[in-house]
Amino acid sequence: MFQNLQDKLDKALHTLKGKGQITEVNVAETVKEVRRALVDADVSYKVAKDFTNTVKEKALGENVITSLNPSQLMVKIVHDELAKLMGGEVTELKIDNNPSIILVAGLQGSGKTTFSGKLASFLKTKKNKKVLLVAGDVYRPAAINQLQVLGEQIGVDVYADLENKNPVEIAQSAIAQAKQNGNNVIIVDTAGRLAIDEQMMEEIRKVHQTINPTETLFVVDSMTGQDAVNTAKAFNDVLDYNGVVLTKLDGDTRGGAALTIRSVVDKPIKFISTGEKMEALDVFYPERMADRILGMGDVVSLVERAQEQFDEEEAKRLQKKIAKNSFDFDDFLKQIQQIKRMGNMKDLVGMIPGAGKALKDVEVDDNAFKGVEAIIHSMTKVERKNPNIIDNSRKKRIAAGSGTSLQEVNQLLKQFSEMGKMMKFMNSANGKKMMETMSK
Ligand code: GDP
Repeated sequence: MFQNLQDKLDKALHTLKGKGQITEVNVAETVKEVRRALVDADVSYKVAKDFTNTVKEKALGENVITSLNPSQLMVKIVHDELAKLMGGEVTELKIDNNPSIILVAGLQGSGKTTFSGKLASFLKTKKNKKVLLVAGDVYRPAAINQLQVLGEQIGVDVYADLENKNPVEIAQSAIAQAKQNGNNVIIVDTAGRLAIDEQMMEEIRKVHQTINPTETLFVVDSMTGQDAVNTAKAFNDVLDYNGVVLTKLDGDTRGGAALTIRSVVDKPIKFISTGEKMEALDVFYPERMADRILGMGDVVSLVERAQEQFDEEEAKRLQKKIAKNSFDFDDFLKQIQQIKRMGNMKDLVGMIPGAGKALKDVEVDDNAFKGVEAIIHSMTKVERKNPNIIDNSRKKRIAAGSGTSLQEVNQLLKQFSEMGKMMKFMNSANGKKMMETMSK
């Protein structure tokens, strides 16, 4: 995410390394580089200039009273200002009305329908809500179908009426049905066009006025850079929405939209979408995003994702198996699947402080475990429980069955055996002593 911006800011902030003090001259040079990095990331010149003026002022002002060195001080100031630029505090979604109505608006292709599905799934699983999705895109039967498929996938009801071409009526009937069925959140997906046009704006304005939503969310494709900001402005003039959803942050986006939208429309970014899968939705935390942009990682989000997938019973079961030295390939496979559920690999690596930068040229993809999984799947049940019996002929069979090489099978077996030794050591008296010392 935002790799280019991250590299350039890193370089700009490095110019102060080794300098004893912040001076008018060296801060001016750094600030110029920071401004250039922002403009290259598609942040508007005015926003970038205001940003760097503040940074400069703060750097010169704080110079005397801090124990940080100039380079650390600059990183801190830039970090805090980036978080402020993106909105400072996190802004929660209002979902306490019964029912709460969420209207989802944006251009065609921005990711509205996908987001509506993700939000429904998020509210169902994390907030315990009974959600109704409403297919309001009357111009594209495919969009209605797409929402129905998503609804089925996540186990959420979908209201659709292929005969009716009036989005206001559809929304009204859907709300009536939701009240009858006891749905406490209604998410209304709407029609978008390829570009802003009067008719679309008028239509969405009418829907908005009639259903009086609790939350109106504007969905925007972050890959569209400055255009995203202009569209955000146009929709805000008509809808006065409550929050922004930035999609496609998993792509090669430069970051301009994320950094500029707040200062242009003064509406918070509430969610970011980082992939096509239903789980790829995150609440937007300005502070954490600033951490990521500056390559400081985002440990809090990483731990949260791990906790979401964490299953206490399973952890206890594993602990017992490790204690008895009976951790086998089936357990290993389960662990891999758990990691995979945490999300897109590149995204996860980016959350580890320093790792994003260090591994930026390394191909990390979701297929990273594919070979390992295939190898384990090609083992018999007995082999998974007792890897010791895997002799050469079994290895050859496993390699052929998994479409891997003998070398890859050997490598996995070796790693597994090393891991076993490690676990054995941790369970030994010496190992326990070492762990105790480390945790002090
Ligand atoms: P709509 O026309 O606004 O409803 O947009 P859709 O929800 O149909 O999305 C348009 C395309 O973008 C689809 O192919 C989605 O799978 C894709 N998409 C949506 N959100 C994301 C995202 O966060 N990342 C990526 N990579 N693709 C996305």
